[in-house]
Amino acid sequence: MTAAAVMPTYGRYDIAFERGEGPYLYATDGRRFLDFAAGIAVNALGHSHPKLVRALADQGAKLWHVSNLYRIPEQEKLAEKLTKHTFADKVFFCNSGAEALEGAIKLVRKYHDDTGHPEKFTVIGCSGAFHGRTLATLAAAGNEKYLKGFDPAVEGFKQVAFGNLNELRAAIDGNTAAILVEPVQGEGGIKPAQLSYLRELRKIADEFGVLLVFDEVQCGMGRSGKLFAHEWAGVTPDVMCIAKGLGGGFPVGAFMATDKAAVGMTAGTHGSTFGGNPLAMAVANAVMDVMLEPGFLERVDKIARLLWKELEGVVKRHPKVFIEVRGAGLMVGLRCHVPNTQLVDKLRENGMLTVGAGENVVRLVPPLIIDESHVREAVEKIDKAASQLAA
Ligand SMILES: *Cc1c(COP(=O)(O)O)cnc(C)c1O
Repeated sequence: MTAAAVMPTYGRYDIAFERGEGPYLYATDGRRFLDFAAGIAVNALGHSHPKLVRALADQGAKLWHVSNLYRIPEQEKLAEKLTKHTFADKVFFCNSGAEALEGAIKLVRKYHDDTGHPEKFTVIGCSGAFHGRTLATLAAAGNEKYLKGFDPAVEGFKQVAFGNLNELRAAIDGNTAAILVEPVQGEGGIKPAQLSYLRELRKIADEFGVLLVFDEVQCGMGRSGKLFAHEWAGVTPDVMCIAKGLGGGFPVGAFMATDKAAVGMTAGTHGSTFGGNPLAMAVANAVMDVMLEPGFLERVDKIARLLWKELEGVVKRHPKVFIEVRGAGLMVGLRCHVPNTQLVDKLRENGMLTVGAGENVVRLVPPLIIDESHVREAVEKIDKAASQLAA
């Protein structure tokens, strides 16, 4: 077995996994890892969750795929659940986060076109954002590192500093269609927006007649301790994108909107061959059902608070290694003095998986089903890795 035939767009670790169970992954060489990377915030219910395994197997035996030319009852069910528990009235299903953002950007442009303002097509995003790797989502985030070599960038995007309302107000003009923000920046370094910032975004969007789009691809689906991170601020967007945790490991994404914002998304305006097929919907319905069980989100919030408390201790014990803990719920960033890659590597050597993020942060995005024993194990491993690095 060799990697030679795989397009080498990733810097991969020389490790492969053959099995997962809850928050653990088992490598082909027999090693066991505590998985606080969770496929980058995807395996929200851990690996091989019995309810997801059953949902996949049952649906797999019945019907995998039909075209969106027909009604798909599993899709209608999931859309109903999502609208019942959010601000949204309508949901479109796709297969990834970037596709959800693409759809949302199209919706935003269509809304203004339909309401007599085709000149309003610019989306204002934030520096440090990440929205995916398609041409439009790269332009939306404006990260030079990812755009380099892929010119010309898609037109109609600009960025302002994350958290800066003055810059945002100054950037809004007659062409502005929407404001696009991650309530907690993920790739950018696990940076939570101030709740007051999110509330002001709502006011500014209303004042200028532009749509407010939240990218909850990473921070949504229970990760913050509420179903969606913006709920902590008590405001709602007009449009929201989700993916990562939605399928618990099955590729599925969605963008959703109020009826008002979705006014232009009529028959023929958008589509996807695979999006919302019965197999994906069966799994995502199972994920939602587990997350909506009474007490699930409360448990996430409680275990997150314990993890934070423990990590504050770790940071204090290793001042040469760590600067601070930041994030929201089980979306935690350890900002480091040492290069974050060194800590990620050292943790992996000690049997724990994490992911790097911007601003020299080590990202902890464990499955939402972790309990106290996993928190203790994680803290032990981080303590050990930090001591080894400090030595
Ligand atoms: C991962 C991510 C995306 C892109 O999702 P893909 O499924 O990789 O296309 C978009 N936005 C945010 C906030 C993300 O974390």
